[in-house]
Amino acid sequence: MQINAWAALAKNAPLTPFVYEKELTPEDVLIKVKYRTLSNSDVLFIGDFWGNTKYPLVPGEDIIGEIVKRGDRTKGLEIGDVVGVGYQVYCCGLCEWCKSGLEQFCRKQKNLRIHEHGGLADFMIVNHKFAFKIPENLQRPEATPLFCGGLTVYSAIINNGVAKDMKVGVVGIGRLGHLALKFLKSMGCQTYAFTSNTDKKTDLAKKGYNVIDPKNDFTEYKESFDLLLYTSTADLDWNKYLSLLRPVGKICLVGFPQNRVQFYAGLLNDYSRRQIVGNFIGSRKDMIDMIGYASKHKILADAEIFPYQKSNEVLSLVRDGAIQYISVITKLKEIL
Ligand SMILES: [Zn+2]
Repeated sequence: MQINAWAALAKNAPLTPFVYEKELTPEDVLIKVKYRTLSNSDVLFIGDFWGNTKYPLVPGEDIIGEIVKRGDRTKGLEIGDVVGVGYQVYCCGLCEWCKSGLEQFCRKQKNLRIHEHGGLADFMIVNHKFAFKIPENLQRPEATPLFCGGLTVYSAIINNGVAKDMKVGVVGIGRLGHLALKFLKSMGCQTYAFTSNTDKKTDLAKKGYNVIDPKNDFTEYKESFDLLLYTSTADLDWNKYLSLLRPVGKICLVGFPQNRVQFYAGLLNDYSRRQIVGNFIGSRKDMIDMIGYASKHKILADAEIFPYQKSNEVLSLVRDGAIQYISVITKLKEIL
């Protein structure tokens, strides 16, 4: 079938209408896309930041849509179900990672924008294992960012053993960071936001978060944090941040610093067992747990919502850092 999308046809080119062909297999569902995000990772893909972009590039990584057709082998999903789709859209189901429920490490996985077109389209065809049914209170634009960014931070929090009353800092408060703060606060953690952005500092303080300016010398916070979740792209003085951790504390990176991470090894091994770890999206189980948790605790993104025809303007705003947390694109039929 024909799918009507918007794509960048070359590196950093503006988005233009683009039609591609894809057929439904017995393992797939056809989704009528309702909402999708455009974020900094779309800007990076369009600009070939990782050197693996193939053009035309259809952006959009978190998607909410309705199943309008299903293949014969899509057990558990029905026509009319509203589903969320994130970055990963295929796994082999046979390798050690798939068999142990860690599909996000499958070496044959497929991802949106690398192997499959993204969600800035009228429809998407997705393997049923990666279309996740969502409850009614998440069937709205502000829930869209949960399916990639939300999964990534939820998985990082859960898989690093975060528990109630732990002291956790989020470094960089944007698309991922602001969702991490919401999850952590709802879990009863002592939650700290590290940001130097004046508007965000005011907004976060108003929402009841502890805010630390990275220009602070951190003396009063030394050796007090259980986890620091880095969601930024900024280069840090890593020694300064490692010195914030208690023994056995961790820094978990879900963002990409622009330059190499350099630190004094003694901060990991002298009188401590500090760790620097990373996290990549989450498993199918993490996704199902995250959806249940977000629904129960009413966690939604602070999203700015735009109509589809403003997609190019939104990408410019994202590029300029003018979107405070995340943008969601909606109202597809106005342009097609
Ligand atoms: Zn596999």
